[in-house]
Amino acid sequence: MFENHSLDTLKGVGPKQLDKLNKLGLFHIQDLLLHLPLRYQDKTRLLAIEALIPGMEAQTEGTIISQAMTRGGRNSLLITLQSNQGALLSLRFFHYHPRQAQSFNRGKRLRVYGEVRMGLHNLEMVHPTYQFIQEQNPPALDTTLTPVYPTTEGLGQATLTKLIHQALHHLKAQPLAELLPESLLRAYSLPTLSQAILTLHQPQASDDLVAIKQFRHPAQQRLILEELISQQIGLQKLRQQEQQRLAPAFAPSHKVNALFASLPFTLTCAQNRVLDEIQQDLAQAQPMQRLVQGDVGSGKTVVAAIAAIQAADAGYQVAIMAPTEILAEQHLQAFREWLEPLDIKVTWLNGRMKTAEKRDILAQIRCGEAKVIVGTHALFQDAVNFHQLGLVIIDEQHRFGVHQRLTLQQKGQKMVLEGDNEPNLDPANKACLAMHPHQLIMTATPIPRTLAMTAYGDLDLSIIDELPPGRKPIETAVINNQKREEVMAHLYARCQEGVQAYWVCPLIEESEVLHAQAAEVTANLFCETWPDLRVGLVHGRLKGEQKAAVMQAFKHHELDLLVATTVIEVGVNVPNASLMIIENAERLGLAQLHQLRGRVGRGEKQSHCVLLYQAPLSATGKARLQIMRESNDGFRIAEEDLKIRGPGEILGTRQTGGLQFRIADLQRDAHWIALARQVSAELLAQDSNLVNALQARWIGHRADYQTA
Ligand code: ADP
Ligand code: MG
Repeated sequence: MFENHSLDTLKGVGPKQLDKLNKLGLFHIQDLLLHLPLRYQDKTRLLAIEALIPGMEAQTEGTIISQAMTRGGRNSLLITLQSNQGALLSLRFFHYHPRQAQSFNRGKRLRVYGEVRMGLHNLEMVHPTYQFIQEQNPPALDTTLTPVYPTTEGLGQATLTKLIHQALHHLKAQPLAELLPESLLRAYSLPTLSQAILTLHQPQASDDLVAIKQFRHPAQQRLILEELISQQIGLQKLRQQEQQRLAPAFAPSHKVNALFASLPFTLTCAQNRVLDEIQQDLAQAQPMQRLVQGDVGSGKTVVAAIAAIQAADAGYQVAIMAPTEILAEQHLQAFREWLEPLDIKVTWLNGRMKTAEKRDILAQIRCGEAKVIVGTHALFQDAVNFHQLGLVIIDEQHRFGVHQRLTLQQKGQKMVLEGDNEPNLDPANKACLAMHPHQLIMTATPIPRTLAMTAYGDLDLSIIDELPPGRKPIETAVINNQKREEVMAHLYARCQEGVQAYWVCPLIEESEVLHAQAAEVTANLFCETWPDLRVGLVHGRLKGEQKAAVMQAFKHHELDLLVATTVIEVGVNVPNASLMIIENAERLGLAQLHQLRGRVGRGEKQSHCVLLYQAPLSATGKARLQIMRESNDGFRIAEEDLKIRGPGEILGTRQTGGLQFRIADLQRDAHWIALARQVSAELLAQDSNLVNALQARWIGHRADYQTA
């Protein structure tokens, strides 16, 4: 089967080129066939120079009347073409070979293709593609559009195109295996795979080019559907694999009742429901794989703590991972407060511990003395070896990647193998005996359903869709930054009444230094204007202990105002804080604003949020802030954010872990996801060869994370 041949079986591919192709993710001939054009050039038509309009991409012809080197800002080679009617077009080259420059002799005729723009004196094209032609005997125009492929440095468009031509030549002789059921193709009027590939690499003038441009063409839809199906297969397989693994089963723990008795509140119905789901999972001998979604402030931490109690009481270790040190430290406190009265020891591990202290804690983790361990991604490090890891809790999952999650999961397995005292078992049997920890993943980023199906298709989903009673929706105002001083004065007055407030200075430049400075300047301004106001400052450049000390002081109301950068975005919990000002709100994503705003509205007091913006606001900018004003509903905000920013941003790092598609786009193609999920389940149940072939075709070398 030619499609599985390595690319160096094609003419003209040596080791160097193979390397370049591999860099593009292209390994087999099939990969080339699925390497679709970014766009197309229309060289089926020839326009006269006088018909060119700035902004268009076009093909034209003319005779060289001059050639010059220009100096100044950037040296360039400037060629001027003239049409038969006398119109002029300049061609500008910033990079060129001296021999190339010499070839542009006056009087020669050129056919060029490029984007037309307004030059200094006449229209010009920068780095057009060109060919010398004879006026009497011009080459024929193309009959198909010219594809433009995504490529990489050192691998020219022409080379790639030639290789793809070779691949298409094979394809025409021998179509690719059709892996989708014929009934499916018929039901949706979709072409076969080979037809679809041919159409997209070599569209004819009669094809619906507008539809192709808009990704609506059946040829594209066909490939998108197949790719989404193969992705769903990957997720469902991952899930099946996980379900075949063994995990320690945890019986209900009476210590949980003791916790309930000590809590100053009772759980909401939603918390209880989700807790039930978790406890049922934990009682199984298969690893739990559960994602808990709950809007900011819905009370996910206490639910996680109860799961931790159940695991710890059964003698297993629990790892809790938070995305920032501030948050890890806060979890440490909450867990200590809840768990230590129950005789469950809570330790923590952070990146800035002194060597001796760290060694000590690592030893405690290794021997199992440390039961509940809170930390940041430091918990992923190789040096951390657990004795008997039974439960992994990952908070604010959107900040972590899928790889990190899998690494921690594997740690559970590794421990069992190493601690195994049956040296005579062969490795395969040992792997069967290996226990996998249960996994609880929590996120406050509400993920629209279709996206959740794709990004988290391997997980069970629980939703805490209720806030603890007594919470009043945060009132949000959108205010022009010109009124900054009034807002500051208002904040001061409120703090005089006992309110605690946050003032958030988001990233303005992509620089941690400037970022910290902005917060510093604001904090100083408050101190100078109102010396009796107790102001604290946190930003990413402070040392961990300093950060922790400031947070602690704020929590204990030793500070009235906390000026912060977006380091406080996730999870920080100070219920008495009820006023938040966010500067440059127009620059932040909606989900991020919602996260930030969720730092207030955590107590019984009516909370307020002020979004300061820098005028002028664009129409979308206005609409976005309007949504924040109208809604406290994370789901609605996430839907809007998805529309505006696309799925990559919302899913954060997770997308680098396997959500890279060749053709599909989760947002644009969301309407296929439910079908893809259904078809993949059917295929998985019916035909494992087909399923493997689909995965090999689409995921091939990218499948690493799925087998990890
Ligand atoms: P998030 O879901 O954003 O992580 P937290 O777990 O930090 O929210 O909880 C927010 C606050 O609500 C905490 O102070 C927590 O103790 C409190 N809380 C949690 N559950 C309840 C409840 N059922 N009733 C009242 N307060 C609760
Ligand atoms: Mg939280």
